[in-house]
Formats: sequence, structure tokens, C-alpha cells
Amino acid sequence: MNFDISRKRMVDTQIIARGVKDQRVIDAMLKTPRHLFVQEAMAAQAYNDTSLPIGEKQTISQPYIVALMTELLELQGSERVLEIGTGSGYQAAVLSCLVKRVYTVERIPQLATRARKLFDLLGLTNIAMKIDDGTLGWSSEAPFEAIIVTAGAPLVPEELAVQLAVGGRMVIPVGDRINQELIKLVKQEDGSLVSEQSVKCRFVNLIGKSGWQEL
Ligand code: SAH
Repeated sequence: MNFDISRKRMVDTQIIARGVKDQRVIDAMLKTPRHLFVQEAMAAQAYNDTSLPIGEKQTISQPYIVALMTELLELQGSERVLEIGTGSGYQAAVLSCLVKRVYTVERIPQLATRARKLFDLLGLTNIAMKIDDGTLGWSSEAPFEAIIVTAGAPLVPEELAVQLAVGGRMVIPVGDRINQELIKLVKQEDGSLVSEQSVKCRFVNLIGKSGWQEL
């Protein structure tokens, strides 16, 4: 199995072909070894056009959705970005190539531990992680120029809106427990949020104080 070839093909056929244009995002997707972030038995499927199970009833998102959400954040390189839902750590690893520092929050300790090991293995030293309810954000490190939520929310958590910097971008799937739409919000000078809808999507549930209740 040549993962470099599979990854290049993934980027060409799933990401560039669907309209992702930001060259820095494309380079980050070419560089990040997705096969290390899935369960070992699924490594051969890591570059397929799909989400995959990562244990604890959670999933690593489809590569295209990772690229699209990252592009929507309009990252230049100097940002501090907050991610809610570390999961496998793949999205955080992609972000770590593109910004100054990534702050990522995961509620399930087993997933957080596994992701931390991968960040260490890959030498991704600009990722800070904590185990917590990410619907509360990370107030001691706020404000953030970009916030990405990688679990489906019933609404935009108020704390996250507060912790977004003026001019900052937030990308979040909002909808019911099964189907969501990807929403991009931009914070205005007066503190209000201007929103724009992107694609329909299907994420695992955001569980927490400003999310869903655990079933
Ligand atoms: N970005 C991840 C996608 C993981 S799936 C990746 O690249 O693999 C979504 C993750 O969000 C799950 O691991 C789930 O446990 C986590 N999650 C759900 N609600 C959360 C919350 N309130 N705070 C932090 N993490 C949460």
C-alpha cells in the first residue's frame, strides 16, 4: 500500500475536483498522514471518500469536509484557532500546518489520549489540547481568530460566539441530530454575527451544556 500515492489521488479527485482552491489547505491535506489517524485495521480505507469509525461511537470526517471547513476559515498563518471535537486528531493536525497555534477540546478521554500520542509522534508542537465540554469554549485562551466545531450542534453555542474575535470566522454544522448544514459565521465590529450557509452534512452529535444531551 503506497499511502503517498493514495493521498495525492484523494486530494486530486475529492478535494481539488470539488472546488477547494486554497493552495495552503491543499498542501496541508497532501502532507497530513490520514492513515495514521484511523484504526489500524482501516488504514487501507483512510483515503476513501468517506468518514470512518474511530472508536467510542465517533468518526473521522470525510476528507472533503475537512478541506472545505478548513478553507472556509480563511487562514493566513498567524491565527490561534479553537477546534471543538478533537476525535482522531486529524483535523487538528491539518490545522497545525496552517496557523500559529491550535487549541482543541475533546470530551472523551480515550480519544484525547490517542490524539495526543499522534501529535507527539508527528512532532506537532503547536497543538494544545484539553478534555472538557467544548461547548463552553476555552475562555482563558480567548479570543480566537477562527473556531471550528466538528460535531453537529442544535444551535451556535453562545460561549463560542463570545470567544470569537472581531473579524474572526466560525464554521459549525447546525441542525438536528441526524442532518445538519455547515454554517460559516463572521463576527462584525458591533459583535453581531453574519452567517452564510454552505453544504448539507452529517456529523456525530455535539454533546454538552450548549449541545445535545447524551442518549
Ligand atoms: N475533528 C475530528 C472529528 C471527530 S468526531 C477528527 O478529525 O477526527 C467529533 C468529536 O467531537 C468526537 O470525538 C466527540 O467525542 C467530540 N465531541 C462531541 N461533543 C463534544 C463537546 N461538547 N466537547 C468536546 N468534544 C466533543
